[in-house]
Amino acid sequence: MKNIFKKNYIATPAKNKYLGPCTMIAYKINAKMINESRCTASEILILVKTIKDPIDICLSQKKNLSKHKYFGSRRRIPLRLSSACVTGSLGDIACNCHNDSIKYLKEINSMGVGIFIYLPQEGFGRGLFAKIADHCIQNSVYTNNERDRSLTFEESAKLLYPRENYDIRRYRVVKNVFEDLGINEFPYLYLGKCGDKIKKIRKDSGLDII
Ligand SMILES: [Zn+2]
Repeated sequence: MKNIFKKNYIATPAKNKYLGPCTMIAYKINAKMINESRCTASEILILVKTIKDPIDICLSQKKNLSKHKYFGSRRRIPLRLSSACVTGSLGDIACNCHNDSIKYLKEINSMGVGIFIYLPQEGFGRGLFAKIADHCIQNSVYTNNERDRSLTFEESAKLLYPRENYDIRRYRVVKNVFEDLGINEFPYLYLGKCGDKIKKIRKDSGLDII
């Protein structure tokens, strides 16, 4: 089985329960990228679904990479960026991240091609510690008040970070990685309705994305 090993990434053909046959890439990001994009770990998982020879995408000379060859005739390549959510993936019901990820993997599969990036930006880029602190606030407010529900993440985040946006994720790392893989010039179609998120992605990554 072919696989590609470079200094900062390794790629291999894989079969994913939801995405089907794909290329699975583990990409190491450096300290600068981690800081710039508020990542909470130093490795990114990228799943690429192409029409044939998926692994070749990592072999190609980036300047010659043909969109048509790898992604077919679809004008825009479906793209999803999901943030790592260790609590949700282990069954915590405070968020829907895990089910969302599965939904988008299946969507890419049904569209035939696409890219799914799992960015290590736990807790909106604030990390697992902050996320659990947020849960503490939610629980204590729920327990100490007559409220009939716990706080939403946004409500508790406002208590924790009254003067700033709770979501500190940035996406310059996507620019670095896409340039390296030679896929930064393609037009993309973002999967999911995240108004502010897609604006940030567009601004930070420089991708042509709608
Ligand atoms: Zn989550």
